[in-house]
Formats: sequence, structure tokens, C-alpha cells
Amino acid sequence: MNRNTEYPIDWSWHDAQGFGRLVNVSGTMTSLGGSIATERVARATAAAMPRFARIHEMQARASEVIARLTGAEAGFLTASASAGITLAVAGCITGMDPARAEALPMDPGPRRHVAVQMGHLCEYGAPVSQAIALAGAGVRIVGQSTLAKDYQLEAALDETCAAALYVVSHHVVDYGMIPLETFIEIAHARGVPVIVDAASEYDLTGLLARGADIAIYSGHKFLGGPTSGIVAGARDLVRAAYLQNIGIGRGMKIGKESIAGAIAAMEQWMERDHEAVRAEETRALQMWQAAIADLPGITPIRIPDPTGNPLERLQVWIDPGVAGASAAQFAEAFGRNDPPLVIRGHEVEKGYLQLDPCNLMQGQAELVRDALVKVLSDGAAAAARIDPRAALAAARNGGTQAYLDWPG
Ligand SMILES: *Cc1c(COP(=O)(O)O)cnc(C)c1O
Repeated sequence: MNRNTEYPIDWSWHDAQGFGRLVNVSGTMTSLGGSIATERVARATAAAMPRFARIHEMQARASEVIARLTGAEAGFLTASASAGITLAVAGCITGMDPARAEALPMDPGPRRHVAVQMGHLCEYGAPVSQAIALAGAGVRIVGQSTLAKDYQLEAALDETCAAALYVVSHHVVDYGMIPLETFIEIAHARGVPVIVDAASEYDLTGLLARGADIAIYSGHKFLGGPTSGIVAGARDLVRAAYLQNIGIGRGMKIGKESIAGAIAAMEQWMERDHEAVRAEETRALQMWQAAIADLPGITPIRIPDPTGNPLERLQVWIDPGVAGASAAQFAEAFGRNDPPLVIRGHEVEKGYLQLDPCNLMQGQAELVRDALVKVLSDGAAAAARIDPRAALAAARNGGTQAYLDWPG
């Protein structure tokens, strides 16, 4: 039933391969393998592996499932949501002209701009502006990082604009930006289609229902599929984006196994008992909160997801003078626990850590509770010995540093 708790804790694979154990309390992170698939999804993926199949036929099936899942006219699967952004932009530039698709990214032609509000130019592991530029498009920045105005969007949407991109995410600035409905209204009045990057949003129907022409989701985040991206929306734009597989989409292709797995994940999502999953997560949050609430200098509060996804996280405020170490030092200390806990530490400079229960496996809620108490109380002295500046730098720049330090 529950994708996270159906597996018991089992380190045999990690140990046999010589890979480090870890407990993921950070959410769906690419650097940790995204999400874990249920048996059903894993079986669907494995079943496709030793067989030939017609990819267009499989993608047509995916289109039907995406239509049921999102309410879109059509959809297709690609390598990732990031690839989906690039392909959707490219489709808006070329339409159904194969020669133009083959000319990208060198020659996007006259309609070559994509309007994006400055506060939406986010980084999700890579800059969204690069996903646009990979299609050969130029980013036309609307407004400033904290305020974008309607007339600024209107002015940006001239005849050289192929599309407008809107990002719904905790990665973007959450005030001062143009509301989605207004953004769509202004773009449509100028005949410009709106692409919504909703990679990490649970609302699979609402964005298209509110008028977005294309919505893009990750298949490997909350959906629990294999690494994949979902492009859903108006049939003509989806078909034009799909056409890009003869060009720039080649390096972003999805294989038969991931199509089969993503279809199974989408079907499972529609059948899943979401209430029961929420209840599991809430139980873990309450347990953690109760376990550390009385520790000196530690204030755990449950906070809703900032974009309205139906999930909560535990925000653990740390008063370093009382707790003995800073949030950044504790984040590092959790990584040195046995087994290591990977927590959300990307806002440690504000004085808190976050714990995300969405990817826990069976028995891990208790394991995390015990580790929390251990690291935040007895472990405070050890955490205090961690270089605070290095810990802060690791939490903030660690994603890139891991590539620079890669031993391969
Ligand atoms: C995760 C994410 C992406 C990238 O998704 P991938 O499928 O990993 O490429 C893009 N945009 C937002 C807002 C995201 O959260």
C-alpha cells in the first residue's frame, strides 16, 4: 500500500556493493537517487528490460495515462522534468516542423525568447535558465527578484516570444510575483503559450485546469517512478515537444524500461490510499517532535510545505548558545551518525534544520527518532568540535563540491 513502508530496513545491498548506508530524511533528492519505487513499479521496469517494444506505442499508452492523471489532452515521458522544460520550450519554437527541430539549438528562428519572472529563475540542482537555453532560446527576464508587474510581462511578450515559463516551487521567491491566473491571462491575450514547471508539485490537475498550456512533472519525485519527466498539456504543443526527440531530445531520451515503470507509478498514484500515507508521515513527525521538544535550545515545529503540497516537515530550530552547536554543525553531525542521516540543511544559515518524512522506509521513523535524541543531546559536544564555517559551506555548496571531489 505505502511505497515507503513496504520495505523493511535492509542494508544487504549497500553492504555487498560497498556503498555507504544512509537514511533519507531530506525528501526527493537527485543526489540520493530521487525516490524509491514500489515492488509494482520495479516489476514493471524489470519486465520491459529483456524485451523489444515499439517506443511510440508505449509513449501513446503513457499519453493516455498522463491524460487520466492530469486532465491534459496528451502527454509524453522524457528523461527528467528538466528535459521536459527544454523540450516544451523547443516545441513552442519549432511547432511540427522537423527541419526547424533539427536546426536547434543553433538556429531557433525569429520566435526565440521565453519570458520568465526574475524571481522564478531558480536553481533546482541546475539553473532553470539553462534548461531554456539548451533549446536555443533566450531568456527574457521579467521584473526584479522581489517584484514583477503585469505591464512588465506584457512588454516582454512581443512577437519574438515563443513561450512564457512559470515555476511553481519552494525554490522560487514566494512574494511579489505575478499570480498564475494573471500570468496566463496576459500571455494568452498575446497568443503566447504558458509552460508551468511543476516538477515537485502534488497538484497534477490544477495547473492545467487554471489554463496552463503545458505542465511538467518529475516522475521520480513524489510519484515514485524511475528517473523520468512528464510533459502534459495541449495536444499540439505536446506533439511538437515530442518531435524534438529527432533533435535535441536525443540526449534526453527515456528508455522502454523507464516508460513502463513511470506508467506503473502513475497508475499506482491514482489508486494509492493517500490518507493512509499522510497518517504514517504525521505519526513520524509527532514522534520526532515529542522526542526532542524538551532538549535545551531545541525547538521543533511542524510546518506545512511552502507551495501547498499535502505534506509537513519538522523544522528544528537550534539556539547554538544553549544547544551547544549550530544548525550547520548538527547537520554535519547527522551525516556522521551510524547510519548517516541525510537531513534538509539548505537553510541552516537561518538557524534551523528540516526533517522530511516522505521517503522513510519501514522502521526508519523510530531509527530517526533515536538518532535525533542522540545527536542533539549527547552528541552536542562532538558537533561543537566541527569547524562551523566548513559545516556552513558544506550545507550551502555541498552539491557542487561533491562533483569537484568525485574520486572516479
Ligand atoms: C526537481 C525540479 C526540477 C528538475 O526535475 P528533474 O526531474 O530532476 O529534472 C525542475 N524544476 C523544479 C521546480 C524542481 O523542483
